[in-house]
Amino acid sequence: MPLPKTDYIWMNGEFVRWEDAKIHVLTHAMHYGSSWFEGIRAYKTPHGTAIFRLREHVERLHHSTRIYSAETPYSIDELCEAIKATIVKNNIQECYIRPLVYRGYEELGINPLNCPVDVIIAAWTWGKYLGKDALNEGVDVGVSSWTRIKPNTMPTMSKAGGNYMNSQLAKVEAIRHGYSEAIMLDGTGCVSEGSGQNIFFVSQGCLHTPSMASSILPGVTRASIMAIARGLGLDVVEGEIPRGMLYTSEELFFTGTAAEITPIRSVDGLKVGDGKVGSVTKKIQDKFFSIVNDGNDEYNWLTYVDFKK
Ligand code: PMP
Repeated sequence: MPLPKTDYIWMNGEFVRWEDAKIHVLTHAMHYGSSWFEGIRAYKTPHGTAIFRLREHVERLHHSTRIYSAETPYSIDELCEAIKATIVKNNIQECYIRPLVYRGYEELGINPLNCPVDVIIAAWTWGKYLGKDALNEGVDVGVSSWTRIKPNTMPTMSKAGGNYMNSQLAKVEAIRHGYSEAIMLDGTGCVSEGSGQNIFFVSQGCLHTPSMASSILPGVTRASIMAIARGLGLDVVEGEIPRGMLYTSEELFFTGTAAEITPIRSVDGLKVGDGKVGSVTKKIQDKFFSIVNDGNDEYNWLTYVDFKK
């Protein structure tokens, strides 16, 4: 689906018209993958437009750039304000927000340290990431032949543009094999994550998810789902998860800002449970959507946007 254009993109503190938001072809990030980004959603609730876990996303962006000695030139508070301003300037009630920090135009060697650290924020309306039926019916996925990047090759804790070369290999292979999405294993052969989602397992009434040691991005949705599940009285276990559990668990689902809570109905052609959305997945989905769609903000996760400002 082509990008649905909005009017303005925030670039280093200024609003620039969408069609004028350009960079030079010799920008460092274009050549060496030196960029870091976030994906954030704003929902239209009965109480107004609310951004889901804005501060946690911006904090993660700061962590992502810090790992690469590319400190973001704007504070967490400044970026939160700029994100809200971008939504207001474009007058969009419900959107996906993409802040991106990148090494800009100055020198072109591997050493990034003399290149500027530039920042943009774009926002646009985006539908259901894995297709309109994915949330209700689940998706078919395959285990990738590509291994997730390992902790001491590239840190998956940093949401760096370059990490998505690994994700793209897995995603393209999955599509070629007729799947919606890939599941990648980590360097030890344990389950890691999807190309752009974390993964959860329901096994014998308990919720399992790979730990930070399994080369995952520490997902903001993942943390939220763990809190919701514990609130519902479920046990949540983080740890190493052997591939076999993909074929024996009663339920599986992906979490992510784009994918939200997407059930997985088959892995490598084998049905998960009875191939329908499981009861635990449904309960967690319902709770999540009652927060973001209905504005039942019992965890204080919503930041409202004031369009009158
Ligand atoms: N893993 C990867 C590789 C991702 O790209 C994403 C999407 N940001 C996630 C997990 C889920 O993270 P979040 O819930 O913060 O969107």
